[in-house]
Amino acid sequence: MTDELINRAAEDIIKAKKVVALTGAGMSVESGIAPFRGKGGIWEKYDPVEYAYIDVLRTDPGKTWILLSEMQKEILKAKPNPSHLSLAELERLGFLSSIITQNVDGLHHEAGNKNVIEFHGNHRQAYCMECGKQIKSEEISLETLPPRCDCGGVLRPDVVFFGEAIPPEALTKSNQETRSCDVMLVIGTSAEVQPAASLPDIAKSSGATIIEINIEETGFTGYTSDYFIKGKAGEILPKIVNKVKDESTNLSA
Ligand code: NAD
Ligand code: ZN
Repeated sequence: MTDELINRAAEDIIKAKKVVALTGAGMSVESGIAPFRGKGGIWEKYDPVEYAYIDVLRTDPGKTWILLSEMQKEILKAKPNPSHLSLAELERLGFLSSIITQNVDGLHHEAGNKNVIEFHGNHRQAYCMECGKQIKSEEISLETLPPRCDCGGVLRPDVVFFGEAIPPEALTKSNQETRSCDVMLVIGTSAEVQPAASLPDIAKSSGATIIEINIEETGFTGYTSDYFIKGKAGEILPKIVNKVKDESTNLSA
């Protein structure tokens, strides 16, 4: 069954004029970064309302930084896994137009993808909430929380907190990509964080085929998704990309 769906996905990708991927935290689990929801998820330890809202960062930054410092340590030591490398190869082969990612770990760039829309920002970059000075996260000491700028202001990663708006450029670009694709790969995302979770519906209503890859069913499965491939992104994506390579070479031979 899974093999049939992998072949079907490869065929859909080859036939499509424009393929876009929407990725979520599940993509980076195999790189050692915990997702928010589900087993082993960060929410098992930290209640988002208590830790991850912008108001909490403003009023009690030391508390938010308990969660941020854990994420930062994981992100800075993580390396792209086979799922990231497969999407990079798909782009190189000319079969992937762009990635819209909810991830803040920068691993798509590190894997070699050029066209990445970071919907929720990037945790590798930070800035001072007082003077705006930019600093790389790897240069921030996490010994005393919250970390501070030379000016005394609190530092924050360049990510979108709950209660904050999506960067306008990312929103505009991802809407354009979503409305103009004819295949959307929806990988490792729980369909629970808005507005990213509406993108597959928008793509579908513009006529795109939605291919979902996840270890478990989500709110998209059976509704928005045309078909669901159950499995780890790091196992399924390399198989799809190998099939795309084989079939497209056969076509051009
Ligand atoms: P989520 O944490 O809500 O859900 C993760 C999804 O990934 C689940 O549906 C789960 O079943 C699936 N999954 C887990 N392991 C998988 C695997 N090996 N292969 C395929 N699927 C797998 O993630 P989300 O939907 O991206 O939304 C949460 C928000 O959390 C995002 O907005 C993002 O900003 C943030 N976040 C980012 C990172 C990161 O950058 N790596 C990590 C945690 C949270
Ligand atoms: Zn400062």
